[in-house]
Amino acid sequence: MALAIFVLGLAFGSFLNVCIYRMPRGISVIHPRSTCPNCKTQIPFYDNVPVVSWLVLRGRCRHCHTPISARYVTVELLTGSMFLLCYAHFGYGLSTLKCCTFGLLLLGLIFTDAETQLLPDQLTLPGLALGVLFSVMVPVNDLVSQLLLGLISLGPSHASWRLLSLLDSLAGAAVGASFIYGAGAIYLRARGVHGMGFGDVKLMAMVGAFLGIRLTIFTIFAASIAGSLFGLWTLSSVWMKRTKRRMLRHHETAQQARRRAWGSAEIALRHLPIPFGVFLGGTAMLAFFWGKGLIRWYWRWLMSPPVAPQHRID
Ligand SMILES: [Zn+2]
Repeated sequence: MALAIFVLGLAFGSFLNVCIYRMPRGISVIHPRSTCPNCKTQIPFYDNVPVVSWLVLRGRCRHCHTPISARYVTVELLTGSMFLLCYAHFGYGLSTLKCCTFGLLLLGLIFTDAETQLLPDQLTLPGLALGVLFSVMVPVNDLVSQLLLGLISLGPSHASWRLLSLLDSLAGAAVGASFIYGAGAIYLRARGVHGMGFGDVKLMAMVGAFLGIRLTIFTIFAASIAGSLFGLWTLSSVWMKRTKRRMLRHHETAQQARRRAWGSAEIALRHLPIPFGVFLGGTAMLAFFWGKGLIRWYWRWLMSPPVAPQHRID
């Protein structure tokens, strides 16, 4: 069963690669058969087997020998592993189907954003609809349903949990979208450049529909931390590299070099396109698997009383 799910994941990953290449370029993902981007030769089915073909051809086109991006095999393996992880985590059922669907959408969006800085509507909007649809099949079990259940006794009928779960999903989508819209406005003020576009807003509406309010907020916070660390890492690595170069080439003193290199590192950071969708997508995936556990752990840590000084008792 596990092997079958992994192989299914590889096949879906292979299709995802087509989406990642074609969607930002406005090409249909169904109609023309796959061709080599360089020599335009149609790729026969035996050269299109996930992972295996890439290994057999040693990462090159059979006709023109142009290297095929390692992204193809990476996405296939990641999708296979993600399917396997969903199955290991949620067992056999609708939760696994929801998890695989969500993961597939996120992987597609992460890689498209990393390559083109675009988050295609063809993924985010159907994704939003799917998230809402799944909420009436798998309970989201978030704030809205917990609060409403406390306020009014709805009784354990089937229809009511579906309705509450649907409300959770819609509330998550609204919170995710408006949060990122607000963050984008603040970012624009602070850095003077557009950091987030409507693609991110739609992405977070989709994430919210799948996760509900709590995990959506968790996703945004975790992604901001990851994005900031990425920015800091870029800033410091450019700074160190430029300082070294200035000292060697321009024979500046360490202090002079450091000060001047700082200026160029700041400019580099300002113009660095931080693919925020990559961080949002990655943390949303983590949130789906481990978010609830992490939030519970965080609350317990926050609420735990200060450690009693035990040594006094001795
Ligand atoms: Zn070729």
